[in-house]
Amino acid sequence: MADKIAFQADVSKMLDIVINSLYSEKQIFLRELISNASDACDKLRYLALTHPDIAKASGAFKIIITPDEKANTLTIADNGVGMNKDDLINHLGTIAKSGTAEFVKNASENGSVCELIGQFGVGFYSAFMVADKVEILTRKAGEDKAWKWVSNGIDGFEITEAEKEVNGTEIKLYLKKDEKNYVDTIYLRQIIRTYSDHIAYPIVLNLGKAGEETVNTGSALWTRNKAEITKEQYRDFYRHISHNFDEPWLTLHFKAEGNIEYTGLLFIPETAPYDLFQPDRKTSLKLYINKVFISDKIEELMPNYLRFVKGIIDSADLPLNISREMLQYSPLLEKIKAGTISRLLKELKKRTKDYDDYIKFWRNFGIVLKEGIYEDFKNREEIAGISYFYSTHDVEKLVSLDDYISRCGKDQKTIYYITGDDINVLRNNPQLEAFKQKGIEVLLLNDPIDEFWPQVLPNYKGYAVKHIAQADADMTWKREEKKADEGSLNKLCGFMQDLLKTEVGKVQPTEKLTTSPVSLTVENGQMSLHLERLMRNHQQQTAFASTRILELNPYHPLIIRLADMLTDEANKAKVEEVSKVLLDQAKVAEGEAISDPSFYAEKISGYILRDIA
Ligand code: ADP
Ligand code: MG
Repeated sequence: MADKIAFQADVSKMLDIVINSLYSEKQIFLRELISNASDACDKLRYLALTHPDIAKASGAFKIIITPDEKANTLTIADNGVGMNKDDLINHLGTIAKSGTAEFVKNASENGSVCELIGQFGVGFYSAFMVADKVEILTRKAGEDKAWKWVSNGIDGFEITEAEKEVNGTEIKLYLKKDEKNYVDTIYLRQIIRTYSDHIAYPIVLNLGKAGEETVNTGSALWTRNKAEITKEQYRDFYRHISHNFDEPWLTLHFKAEGNIEYTGLLFIPETAPYDLFQPDRKTSLKLYINKVFISDKIEELMPNYLRFVKGIIDSADLPLNISREMLQYSPLLEKIKAGTISRLLKELKKRTKDYDDYIKFWRNFGIVLKEGIYEDFKNREEIAGISYFYSTHDVEKLVSLDDYISRCGKDQKTIYYITGDDINVLRNNPQLEAFKQKGIEVLLLNDPIDEFWPQVLPNYKGYAVKHIAQADADMTWKREEKKADEGSLNKLCGFMQDLLKTEVGKVQPTEKLTTSPVSLTVENGQMSLHLERLMRNHQQQTAFASTRILELNPYHPLIIRLADMLTDEANKAKVEEVSKVLLDQAKVAEGEAISDPSFYAEKISGYILRDIA
């Protein structure tokens, strides 16, 4: 005799949404059913601790997936704890928590039911996304009777007594006509690997005559003791979760204990992914709650500047029964994130001890990590401390801020830097001449982000961080060379300023140049020329272009001569020409485009010809 039982109103409401909406990620039903099977095994495993005889009959735990192409059915079987009649009625026909149906309704309006259904604690019902009939054959461990539960997912379900030799549950899905792909073993294998690889029990694909095949890894690597895991196992796991084929540059496996417990298994790839700079590239750590895969889309798990980190975080302390959206705001998640960042940064710091090794990482990801100096207020100094830069100290080696400080004279309390797009152009920037002269090291920063992080890091370990344009007047020194006469120099400045007024705001003498006659800079505190170029490249019109300053070297023979020439009105045209050429020269040295290249080329050719004639 069959018992006909109607679904609880909430279940009907929810099933209606599940069945009648179109979802793109329906395949997660399999994750849910496998996860339930795994839970059932967990329960029996726990039960067997106190009742060893109960679990004996069914042998080693496993989950068997059987597709039947002819019948268009898919069966998920486990030898876990099973269900009796009461369990079937109470668990599969009602919703334990009130308000869940409402949650599902809201989620469906945001299109995220597929992802969330398991987290709502109603994962079983997702079977009806792909099946128009579900048949369950189950027998509870330690009991004699078996039961059959059948439902079309609409009205309710029928329960009849049945025969089953061992404890456990078989869930047979009669697939909808257009869901035939779930009997395709290649597809099944792929879904199982994607979603359930780290289920701790073997997931066996029943290939009929072709035998059986265990599809998953079978145990959650991160739950195992570090000492028992080989380098190859770590590597294979890394490859599996990252879809990369290289070696991990860093493997960090840790267990955090304290008021919140979690395990992390994190990797940094040896090579940079192609999409590292794609604007929509987000972090992709996988979040597990007690070995159950929750999501790899929880951005709150890693900051953007660590988006190259791969791996998993598993915490049994996070609530399994709340939606992903709610999980994001969980203060526990925030703590896990902070703890994980701090471990990663400490590990990176350790790795800086081997310069060559660290620089491999730095060349791949340094440009991203540096974003953290700008973004992560709390860890700013730490990130700056593991950052490396070009410097005037060394042509080949990159230097850290600590390296720099260790070379500072006792009076130097400032870390100087200059920004630009090309490292070779930067090295020869005339603005560096005074620093070279005085033996002061300058960092050569050539990434776009380098324009930004110094703004938020005015100090590092008690040292001011300053663009060389902000260097104090003490960058001058006593000079013995012949200098242009003060009066004619001022006249030359005025003349040039008037002549070049559409391009530069000011022309003034400087004490900072040695070998170059001229150099281009900006007013102290204004946006650097490099930043201006960056903005221009991003179509952000230079509404606030900085005032350019053309600086003249009064010790340079060319400037001395020019100032002298201007005292005679007859030379005016020539001084004009040379002034324009000098401005172009200053622009070239800075990496700026010159406004009239053909004028410049023609004049330079003329000078060369006169020189070699
Ligand atoms: P959740 O797994 O979050 O509890 P589900 O909708 O996935 O929600 O499952 C509901 C309940 O049905 C489970 O808690 C469990 O009691 C029961 N159940 C589902 N599948 C099985 C199974 N294979 N073996 C034993 N019990 C099961
Ligand atoms: Mg479940």
